[in-house]
Amino acid sequence: MISSRIGGGGEHYTFNVKEKPVLVVVKGNFGIASQDIFNGVEKIVTLQRDWFGDYEYPFYRVVINERKEIIAGTAVKNQFVCFVKADIDADELNIILSHEMFHNWLPEKIKITHTADYYGTIYEWFTEGFTTYFAKKILLEAGLLSIEKYIELINKEIQNIGDSQLKNVTSAEIIATIKEGKFYSEYKKLAYWRGALIALKWEAELQNSKEKESLSGFIKALYRFAQNKGGKISEQEFHLFSEEFGIHAAADFEKYIVGGASILLPHSLPLEVSESVEIAEIDFHVFDPGFDLITTKKTSLISGVAKNGKAYNAGLRDGMKFVRSENSTRGDFGWNEDRLLKVTVKENETEAEITVAFIPLDSLVKIQQLSLKTVFTRMQ
Ligand SMILES: [Zn+2]
Repeated sequence: MISSRIGGGGEHYTFNVKEKPVLVVVKGNFGIASQDIFNGVEKIVTLQRDWFGDYEYPFYRVVINERKEIIAGTAVKNQFVCFVKADIDADELNIILSHEMFHNWLPEKIKITHTADYYGTIYEWFTEGFTTYFAKKILLEAGLLSIEKYIELINKEIQNIGDSQLKNVTSAEIIATIKEGKFYSEYKKLAYWRGALIALKWEAELQNSKEKESLSGFIKALYRFAQNKGGKISEQEFHLFSEEFGIHAAADFEKYIVGGASILLPHSLPLEVSESVEIAEIDFHVFDPGFDLITTKKTSLISGVAKNGKAYNAGLRDGMKFVRSENSTRGDFGWNEDRLLKVTVKENETEAEITVAFIPLDSLVKIQQLSLKTVFTRMQ
């Protein structure tokens, strides 16, 4: 692999997919070697185009810029630009690249059309959830993500739903929230997690069926179907197509997205890779800090303290001035179950800061988690 330095402190690398050039530019001082970034981009772009048999890109550019403390990306025609923190790890970077570039097909070339209000938001379970699912699947297939890490990330998404107070919210409730101007980021994240879990459910159902189809096969076929219709299909066409493939899309949409029911997985997931994955129920402590973290951060005042809850017993009261918190959001990168949640407050402007610490875990619930099936060979 050959790369060279260009003006503006960047490094660049060009490769071809079926004679079509792809330019990768890295600007910044990342903890990952540029060669590894280039290698990752080449594998992702090549595999995604191979997946769909879609090579109609006269030119494509991927630009990775360093920005403090964020991870964000934006796709424009023939280009993907992202801004990421310098200490991003290779898995995180590959996931954002794989996710954002997967949008070149979903929903760009597989658009499900509808006229109903708020339809775009309600359908994020498919456009964002399935993109979340396939982003990791592509990395697994490209050899950029280990099977252990793949399972760990899926388990985290299932935990995130388990933790969410919104886990059984209905589409009508979500629409009402948007109308009231109370829609916040956890509603959006929920669509990603739910959609990714529905994708995994369909994957397991397909792979456990007689035909041994896969969800990758489904999305590739759906892409070809959409191509014959100018990239756009109606919801009814989507449901009929899915049903013919052995997927009960209409029924699952009603049950899980419209109705908010909990999504349960079958007990095994035969991956296309050699390993087999088991799915079992485990006891899981729900994350519950005992106060409303979202409103607290928004208003800088401790809010929603539940009487005799964890925060209350540690000394937090509504109306205290919020200064900062540590280890406060399960699901965030770096959250550690073995560390205490710390909240620093001031009783009022003139008082000194006080820090309280407590375990933000509450009641036990059952959630499903994936694990690699170990095959033992008996010693004789
Ligand atoms: Zn996305």
